Amino acid sequence: MRALTVMFMARLGSLNALRQTRTHRFWNGWLGADLPSADTLGRVTTQIEAAGLREMHRQVYTRLKRGKALPPPAHCLIAAVLDGHESHATYRRHCPGCLTRTIHTALGDRTQYYHRHVSLQLVGANWTLLLDAEPQRPGEDEVAAALRLLERVLPRYPRAFDVVAADGLYADPRVFNYLYPRGKDVLAVLKYNHPALLEDARSLFDHHSSVAGRYRNRACRYWDIGGFTTWPQVTAPIRIVRSLETWSVRRQRDGQVETQQADWFWVTTLAPTRATTGAVVQLGHARWAIENQGFNELVTHWHADHVYRHEPTALLVFTLLAMLCLNVFLAFYRRDLKPAARQAANMLHIAHLIAAELFVGIPAGPARTPM
Ligand SMILES: [Zn+2]
Repeated sequence: MRALTVMFMARLGSLNALRQTRTHRFWNGWLGADLPSADTLGRVTTQIEAAGLREMHRQVYTRLKRGKALPPPAHCLIAAVLDGHESHATYRRHCPGCLTRTIHTALGDRTQYYHRHVSLQLVGANWTLLLDAEPQRPGEDEVAAALRLLERVLPRYPRAFDVVAADGLYADPRVFNYLYPRGKDVLAVLKYNHPALLEDARSLFDHHSSVAGRYRNRACRYWDIGGFTTWPQVTAPIRIVRSLETWSVRRQRDGQVETQQADWFWVTTLAPTRATTGAVVQLGHARWAIENQGFNELVTHWHADHVYRHEPTALLVFTLLAMLCLNVFLAFYRRDLKPAARQAANMLHIAHLIAAELFVGIPAGPARTPM
């Protein structure tokens, strides 16, 4: 695992790339042994217990919390964003953990194999922290995997967050009915998957006046109504907030200024005494505001979607380990580096420096070819 940590921190992208650094004297000091072959490293990950990695996540959280590195935003509510993430898809190789779907192609229907996991990421004041991930199993839907994740996370992180925020898929009675009695609020995008509720909200909003608001550079009109009863499967009191947002963008192709608009609806259990309309809008956008700080960052810059080993345990281990490395790296970058150093070197630059260190002093030529 220590070797794999270096692979992620240096963002090498494959076990073979890691193996190319094997002659560096760093490895003997770091591992107290030679760097194992790519095959051995891959095989070992099928034996690692995810529980141990999850415990390491908890330790990182606890240290950051004690160090007062996880302050809440101005509205005082820390969100935990639930998000499904699909990794690789293939027609060829599959394993017992693969999900399947039928793809209609010109050559007829084909079975595609893929994996998806649900992650939970804390969002506070200018910081984020990926807490845990849970694979979706064959035969279940994403919400079922999310509930299993919540069952594990709630007792382990009882006071880490106040509200669970998610996209429209999670506007699901199972999520609301699970979290609300356990003292956690829920906030989900309301979309066309709840036509009756959306219709009810729209007709009520037509007869209510809006108030002016602002989200980032967007001028907003807010509507905010509680006491909805058109969602009988949900036991909690339901409030719906709408934000009609208008902003200007300059078009790249001809430099013209264009007005854009978005019409958001959120369904939430958050009481008005706990979260103002503006706070609900901010929390509602949290899922999208973190786009470059969660799995997108891991996929784009950390090669988290690379299939290091196509086996259910290995896939989970690599996911949890990539998340852990990102958390530790971000904590170091934001807390330990002075602002001047951060200005001089972005995160990718630092990763390249780590990688460069590993390759320095290694003889070029055949010795670098993976065995
Ligand atoms: Zn598989």
